[in-house]
Amino acid sequence: MLNPRTAVAVPLTRADPPLDGQVRAAIAGGADLVELRVDLIGDVAAVESLLRGPRPCPYLLTVRPVHEGGAWDGDESDRISLIERLGLLRPGWIDVELAAWRRSANVRQKVGLVCDVSGRETAPAPGSGIRDQPAPVGDGRARNRLILSHHDFRSTPADLDAVFDDLAATPAFAIKAAFAARDASDALRVLDQLRRRSSARRVVALAMGEAGLITRVAAPRFGAFLTFAAAEARDASAPGQPTLEELQRWRWPSLGPATRLYGIVGWPVAHSRSPRVHNAAMAAAGIDGLFVPLPVRPDRDACRAFLDAAAAADWLGLAGLSVTLPHKEHLVDWVRARGGVLDSLSQRCGAANTLIAPDPARGNERPAWHAANTDGPAARQSLAGAMQRPAPWRVTVLGAGGAARAVIAELAAAGHSVTVLNRTPERAARLARDFHCASDAWERRGELAADAVVNCTSVGLGPCANESPFPDHAWGSLRTRSSGVAPVAFDTIYEPRETRFLREARAAGWIAVPGVEMFLAQAARQFELWHGRPPPEGVMRAAFDAD
Ligand code: NAP
Repeated sequence: MLNPRTAVAVPLTRADPPLDGQVRAAIAGGADLVELRVDLIGDVAAVESLLRGPRPCPYLLTVRPVHEGGAWDGDESDRISLIERLGLLRPGWIDVELAAWRRSANVRQKVGLVCDVSGRETAPAPGSGIRDQPAPVGDGRARNRLILSHHDFRSTPADLDAVFDDLAATPAFAIKAAFAARDASDALRVLDQLRRRSSARRVVALAMGEAGLITRVAAPRFGAFLTFAAAEARDASAPGQPTLEELQRWRWPSLGPATRLYGIVGWPVAHSRSPRVHNAAMAAAGIDGLFVPLPVRPDRDACRAFLDAAAAADWLGLAGLSVTLPHKEHLVDWVRARGGVLDSLSQRCGAANTLIAPDPARGNERPAWHAANTDGPAARQSLAGAMQRPAPWRVTVLGAGGAARAVIAELAAAGHSVTVLNRTPERAARLARDFHCASDAWERRGELAADAVVNCTSVGLGPCANESPFPDHAWGSLRTRSSGVAPVAFDTIYEPRETRFLREARAAGWIAVPGVEMFLAQAARQFELWHGRPPPEGVMRAAFDAD
């Protein structure tokens, strides 16, 4: 058992390899309950044979119809008859959709023949695990426990209260609802239902899709009865369902009601390395915290709505956020509007990547929302670690987007001589005005003498992964003019780690600094700001590098 309070249910979705072996593997991986998704397994005889065999753990029997996201497209009365027939073999648990339950007295009667629907056991027994519960008995016969469920694969409706009120009015042992989440704001609304309902009922409340991950991996933090995790990624029975192995990486065994929440807000954030780096760092430092991806739609209003909701949710335990594209400027606006505190770099460049929640425990030290920009100092630190000549340096910055803004504001304030070049010249000119540095034509990027060239464009990333923003032939000629001391080429891109920009610079004798250095330095500063103690930098680097 991975967690004493919130159980882990592992769905089986295929008949091959044999079901009994899959059950053993699921238990070895931490399953408390194995869900038999008969609609996906397809082979009813194999399920029957499993149910007649030894019982290493309780089973949850589910025959989900197509209109609730399952694969059963046959006759509805055949489906209910199948549930009844397999239910007589006492899997232990049966999931029936609320819509089917409410549709007819006949369905309720058939389900009642194999499930306890007396309503005696609707309230959770404090502290008891899923395996501790003896089977309910009625008419002298042992019965299964009933989960009534609701699934919405299109949206998270505005009126979630209505859905949960309907479920809560039933005699089910546990209630379950799952909704497609557009972004993290939907996930917060689902979590709110979970934490409000879970003292009175056993509740499973899930937001599906990438944006809903927090509802699955943080389930113990909010009192969920169970969560679902697949044995392997291909066995996931709903969008966004993690694997058993992933659940462990999300710090599942250590989560509890006091766990503080952190996350990365951006669009997209699915592939961000911040969660693995910060979760590993908190684990190593013995901090009771969880860091999750929080995808928030790209517009300013969506960002404001999410931050407002998160700030109002004192039950959430939100302690800090990392904020990335395209919300760094939105964060500054939001903190300003709330009368919060901006560090000097966020004020100067109008963008921040770190939010720190007010912390009453730290008294006057953190009385208000506080935003900081750790990108700028991290870039300066990465550059300084490689520079071989004394400051001040002549630095050519390529690009005039958000990253360039933070880098230039920091370097210019430190007294370095910065020249900014950008494909769109107006943006370079504006940065030069804002930070009292020089700008030049993009076409002249191979001609300017410099101690360091910093790539702050997105050339070298994603679809441009094999391109460089700097002319290959220029590395050699600029190196020759650098009076014996090797100049530095610094690429802020960290994925891929080795860009063409860095390869070509190194081949011409430049010192190459990859963006991973800046990424780790900005994450280390975030750790210090959130936790008030030195970051375990070795652990963070190892977590970044882990596959
Ligand atoms: P952004 O605001 O979208 O800016 C993108 C920049 O790239 C703009 O200057 C844009 O020029 C330029 N650009 C895009 N395509 C181009 C092309 N084909 N040719 C020439 N220039 C092109 O993005 P950002 O937030 O500044 O991020 C930029 C880079 O910084 C990203 O690669 C990101 O990975 C990196 N970054 C790294 C870290 C770290 O911790 N290592 C932190 C933050 C950002 P126009 O103005 O002409 O469009």
